[in-house]
Amino acid sequence: MALLPLAQLCLPPAATLHDALARLDATAQGILLVTDDQGRLLRTVTDGDLRRAALAGIAPTAPLSALPTAHAPHTVGLQASQRDVLELMDAQRIDHVPVVDADGRAVDLITRRELSQRVWLSSPHLGEDEVALVQEAFSSNWIAPLGPHVDAFERELAALVGVRHAAATSSGTAALHLGLRLLGVRPGDVVLCSSLTFVASANPIKQLGATPVFIDSEPQSWNMSPQALAAALEALHAAGITPRAAVVVNLYGQSAEMDSLVPLLQQYGVPMLEDAAESLGASYKGRPSGSFGKLAVFSFNGNKIITTSGGGMLVGNDPALIDHARKLSTQAREPARHYEHVEDGYNYRLSNVLAGIGRGQLRVLEHRVQSRRAIFSQYRDALSAALGLRWMEEPEGHHSTRWLSAFVLEGDDAQARRDALLDFLERHNVEARPVWKPMHLQPLYSGSRYFQHDAGQDVSRALFEGGVCLPSGSNMNAAQRSRVCELVARGLGVAVRSAA
Ligand SMILES: *Cc1c(COP(=O)(O)O)cnc(C)c1O
Repeated sequence: MALLPLAQLCLPPAATLHDALARLDATAQGILLVTDDQGRLLRTVTDGDLRRAALAGIAPTAPLSALPTAHAPHTVGLQASQRDVLELMDAQRIDHVPVVDADGRAVDLITRRELSQRVWLSSPHLGEDEVALVQEAFSSNWIAPLGPHVDAFERELAALVGVRHAAATSSGTAALHLGLRLLGVRPGDVVLCSSLTFVASANPIKQLGATPVFIDSEPQSWNMSPQALAAALEALHAAGITPRAAVVVNLYGQSAEMDSLVPLLQQYGVPMLEDAAESLGASYKGRPSGSFGKLAVFSFNGNKIITTSGGGMLVGNDPALIDHARKLSTQAREPARHYEHVEDGYNYRLSNVLAGIGRGQLRVLEHRVQSRRAIFSQYRDALSAALGLRWMEEPEGHHSTRWLSAFVLEGDDAQARRDALLDFLERHNVEARPVWKPMHLQPLYSGSRYFQHDAGQDVSRALFEGGVCLPSGSNMNAAQRSRVCELVARGLGVAVRSAA
């Protein structure tokens, strides 16, 4: 059922019962809102109200104001949570709840139907291949942590990314931790890191006793600003500091501007750990994302483009580093009959069963990329009438997976408009999120050094304040996608452009 602009559900008290019946029919929502000339909600009218009026002998030509006075309509305010709305619906046995603003004006209508059908930001999407491969892992009795699926998953992923070696881990965060340790990060070191990212990119730096220095984004790709990186490298160099490593993040399915970042880091002798957790399947100038760093990390967490429920991968071309990663991820046991230990390791290996899921998911990766890109295009086309909104660009040479469809609202009141939109979507049971809150704004990292894109231009802060990620799961059906388009359009106060 298509969503309608609220105005189509509103009638003045002078409208006749006959008008109301015709409008109920045309709008098919089961409810109308009677509003005064200020838009204030006077009452609601349902089929039942009209039926009872007919039985009471009220003429169809009578105005709505002639209906027997109803109790005050059951409404909620703009701050109401979804739970408040559901409780009201249950308590009053109603299926519609109008939302009114502080002045009593009708601003929205919530239906029980939408509350029963949540649209998720990015939910796991599993197919038949995965089930077959997990079954095989069970029947071949390879439930133990290691087994043939782990090795095959590593080989298959490495081939896809165009790197020589890969070590499967229990999470992307574990792979980042291993990667930094393998690059030699020790207490007291400085490690550069993109500020606009999920906290897991930065935490292992801190956990290894090193100090993160955060780098701003550039406005095009939203990823690490080469300009800010150059400023940081120069400033640190002047102070006699060579960062031990740089964690370069590829955000929301899009590679960072590697042609600028790689030579800069090389010039100062800083190895790159590429955080490709969100960019599996993307490419930059024809080269797969995750093939640029000395080491790179992927994640197969539940909301990523493909998932093993939880899992990760550390990849690279240096066999010694990846071998060492495998050793450290399995408690760092030395080759001996007994348990001999020289270094301290971790229990970070991916299980064989989960690797089976991963192999099945790898086979459908290309489809998942296509679905997510199609969702992004649909949003962008449908919302092309919205002003003051900038979609995350896909600059020349980039091929993004559009893991999450993201845009940023611009202007002074961007954050207030973003919050109003997110509240509105949540009321309608649609899960949208703000863009990551940058690390330099996190209490956890307060006091950390931060290099802005430009004097007076904190790009990642602006992307956070006005940025919205829309539901982007590859398993969203057509109805859910148009529902999100229509809701976002309504939330932004524009009309949906229908596809040509
Ligand atoms: C998801 C994610 C991670 C962490 O991966 P997990 O598998 O959840 O531990 C790291 N970095 C970024 C940018 C991510 O989005």
